[in-house]
Formats: sequence, structure tokens, C-alpha cells
Amino acid sequence: MSKTLFEKIIDKEIPAEIIFEDEIAIVIKDINPQAPTHLLIIPKKVIPKLSDATDNDKDVLGHLMLIAKDISNQLGLDETFRLVVNNGAKAGQSVFHLHIHLLSGRPLNWPPG
Ligand code: AMP
Repeated sequence: MSKTLFEKIIDKEIPAEIIFEDEIAIVIKDINPQAPTHLLIIPKKVIPKLSDATDNDKDVLGHLMLIAKDISNQLGLDETFRLVVNNGAKAGQSVFHLHIHLLSGRPLNWPPG
């Protein structure tokens, strides 16, 4: 199996602006930001999309959410941010390695497009 784009970033084969890293996940700046703050919270375990996650992934998935909270506090986002998971090509997913978008720094309208 060839590596996903995000595995290559995790393995430091492709450069990225790394904001945070631990044994479970990495957080990078999105290369094409859609808001003043646009981060990607990426598990090191390759789960292609959220619909592929299982009960075994509970800890990883919970960890990603807590990273979002911690990073938003560290960056002083005033508890104002949006998390997005695009699941499947028709929902806008382009990289098939699960990731959470963290967006902040501009008005975020509802419903999203
Ligand atoms: P999605 O469309 O939900 O799969 O999100 C994939 C995201 O990855 C998009 O927002 C892209 O801008 C972002 N992206 C693609 N390549 C890179 C890269 N080399 N470094 C950082 N972000 C990237």
C-alpha cells in the first residue's frame, strides 16, 4: 500500500508546518487555508475516513477532540472555532486519511456550504 499524503507528512518525507505532535496525532497548518486559522488534526493511525472507524478507535478519536480543545486554548481562539470532518468524496474529502479541520478567525456561517 502506498502512503497517504498525511503519512508522508507524519514520516517527515513531505514538509509541513507542524503545530503539535505526540504519539497519537499531528497537527499541521492547512496548505490552502480557508480561514485565518486553519489546522488539520491528523491521527497517526491511518483511518481512511470516519465511516471506517471502529470501536477500537475510540481513544484515538477522543484524543483528536481534546487536542482541538487544547490547541484552541493555546492559540487564544477565544473558544470560537469550528471542527469539520469531510467524509467521502461527495462531502468534499480529498485526502483519504482521516483528519479534523479546525477553522477560526473569521465569521463562520451556518449552514456550511
Ligand atoms: P479534505 O478535503 O477534507 O480531505 O481536506 C484535505 C485538506 O488537506 C485540504 O484542506 C488541503 O488544503 C489540505 N492539504 C493538502 N495537501 C496539503 C499539504 N501538503 N500540507 C497541508 N495541507 C494540505
